[in-house]
Amino acid sequence: MRQVFFMSYFYCMKKIFIFILYTVCFSSLSQQTDKVDFLEINGNVEIDTLHFSIKGQVQVKFKTLKSIDSVYLDGVNMSIKPSENSPYKIVEENNKIWITSNFKKGNEYTAEFTYECQPQQAVYFVGFNSELKAYPSQVWTQGQGKYTSHWLPSLDDMNDKLIFNITYLAPKNYEVFANGKLTRTRSRLNHKSWTYEMKRPMSSYLVAFAMGDFFSSRFKSEKGTPLILTTSTRDKDKINSTYQHHKLIFDYLENKINVDYPWQNYKQVPVRDFLYAGMENTTLNIFSDDFVVDTVGLNDKSFVNVQAHELAHQWFGNLVTETSSKHHWLHEGFATFYALEVEREIFGDEYYFYKIYKTAEELKSLSDKGKGQVLVNTGGSSLTYYEKGAWALIILREIVGGEVFDTAVQNYLTTYAFQNVTTDDFINEVEAVHGQSLDAYKERWLYQKAFQSREALEFLKKNEFIQDYMKLAAFRETRLVLKEELLSTSLDFPVNDYLGQEAVYQLDGEDIELTLPLYKKAFETNNLLVRQAIANSLTEIPVKLKKDYESLLKDESYLTIEKALFHLWVSFPEDRHKYLDSTKNIEGFKDKNVKLLWLTLSLATPDYETVNKSKTFQELSQHTKSGYPYQVRQHAFGYLYQLDTFEVSNYKDLMQGVFHPVWQFQKFCRELLDTLMTSEKHREALLDLVNDFTVREKTFFNNRY
Ligand SMILES: [Zn+2]
Repeated sequence: MRQVFFMSYFYCMKKIFIFILYTVCFSSLSQQTDKVDFLEINGNVEIDTLHFSIKGQVQVKFKTLKSIDSVYLDGVNMSIKPSENSPYKIVEENNKIWITSNFKKGNEYTAEFTYECQPQQAVYFVGFNSELKAYPSQVWTQGQGKYTSHWLPSLDDMNDKLIFNITYLAPKNYEVFANGKLTRTRSRLNHKSWTYEMKRPMSSYLVAFAMGDFFSSRFKSEKGTPLILTTSTRDKDKINSTYQHHKLIFDYLENKINVDYPWQNYKQVPVRDFLYAGMENTTLNIFSDDFVVDTVGLNDKSFVNVQAHELAHQWFGNLVTETSSKHHWLHEGFATFYALEVEREIFGDEYYFYKIYKTAEELKSLSDKGKGQVLVNTGGSSLTYYEKGAWALIILREIVGGEVFDTAVQNYLTTYAFQNVTTDDFINEVEAVHGQSLDAYKERWLYQKAFQSREALEFLKKNEFIQDYMKLAAFRETRLVLKEELLSTSLDFPVNDYLGQEAVYQLDGEDIELTLPLYKKAFETNNLLVRQAIANSLTEIPVKLKKDYESLLKDESYLTIEKALFHLWVSFPEDRHKYLDSTKNIEGFKDKNVKLLWLTLSLATPDYETVNKSKTFQELSQHTKSGYPYQVRQHAFGYLYQLDTFEVSNYKDLMQGVFHPVWQFQKFCRELLDTLMTSEKHREALLDLVNDFTVREKTFFNNRY
């Protein structure tokens, strides 16, 4: 998976860690992989959007490796009914579905039962109970870290891989995407069924579906794999900009890894309010619709990295799977490493080296504080599993050489295909091709807390651009007069994205009169990123740069426009009308970053569109509603707080947000509520509303305040 924020991973890993402790304590209960091999789950899953529940029927096939009297599947809060004439006793107990009989060693058995559940996690019903037509409802799943067993009887243990064939029954008008190949659809009255079949086994955490109103576009990879791209129907005009380079990414990666893509097809589906950036469910990348962008948004939010990362997992994680989270870098380190390879192919060497330079800096700084983590270990941060993992592979390739590395990876994938692996399994493959021990490497890169920054630096220094960048960065603390010439050279045509940005950031805080010629030069580079650096850092605009700064409002970047509009509005009150007029119809990203700022500034400009003031306020205020994506709601709450104006509906929306499944937004709402409760005005308003809260909200509120 790819995380939006580092913290979210800690959260996830913590849950996994707790689970591990649990399984250790009850090992006799949980370790059944040596007694039984589950082969197949064939199921019917009905998605009930009225009751937010799942009803289903499951047929499970398994082979016994020992004579035993019971086997179990994981199934959280499910009510179970065995099929008529079931030869086995099937009961639910403590979130496990026990199938009991006199099972003889070496036989294959099939058990069938129906189940019902109302999942509290792992499947999410989004946008129901909302009248907002712009945001049609969706249902989607997240297995990793949340456990598929909340909606489908399956195995929390990723060491048993099964073939899943599932028919989803959804209200008609919705489309369902799921793992494997769509082999049949059938319409019945108000519903439609979608049958998806797989050929190869996988771990249960990779089972997924996404139901919604989608538009799709179909392609074939160089080797003939069907590639299906989707957006919500409303965003269909953004499909080309969103999936820029998608075919190149697929073909390049498949050739680079040099092992055929292991599954029947590859589908990518953006969903609302997703918990992470993307999730690599087998054959189905479900990702945050934050990455659905138009041609302007594309300049700020490229989907290339997340696309490549999730695709790489189809081999690293899905084809070969860690035996436990101790070896999690075998998923995330590899996905990060190969995504970087793809980005290097598309964006070039400088992009690649700049990116790994930045992660090396982060890893070094943490390591210098004594907070470095061992890579092969449980409970690591995402920085460790993803970035330190990628660095471990970069250095390994440097040591053994590209050819040995590629062959070893190929051997590793083919030897352990559809199986589970440990770090040693991988290293042994490399040693076999390399012909030498890698003990010293293992010690430094896999089993030491400290990040090997000197070794990383030696590697980075082989790139000339990084040498230039480091020379320039070394001047950060130097007085302007001593580095004026160097900064000016860094802005010479044709400017380098990173050197140019660095030069601009070094002007921040200097005597503005002295920096004027350099800022002028930076504006004239016409480089989007260099100009964005000005919008980010130059917050009080000198009159002499006014004209240049105003030109930022026309840049093809919603980030630049948002910053520039705000800083111009603050710096030149006499021209506020002009700035508001020129940006009036810009929406921005899917989170409406420009639109919501515009509404706020318009309200904060007393003599602007005076007759429309209450309409403008209503427009801003309504964006806190639960039907909006959480990113939009968060912006709206933030701006209302700055305007210090909350209506009854906003308070209620905020209370509803404290239970939002996206933890970052949940945290935001709770903190905002805490802040409001310190103000007499808001506190009184909230206390007046307590009786209107739901039972759950009331309990939360009364316990907290
Ligand atoms: Zn990942």
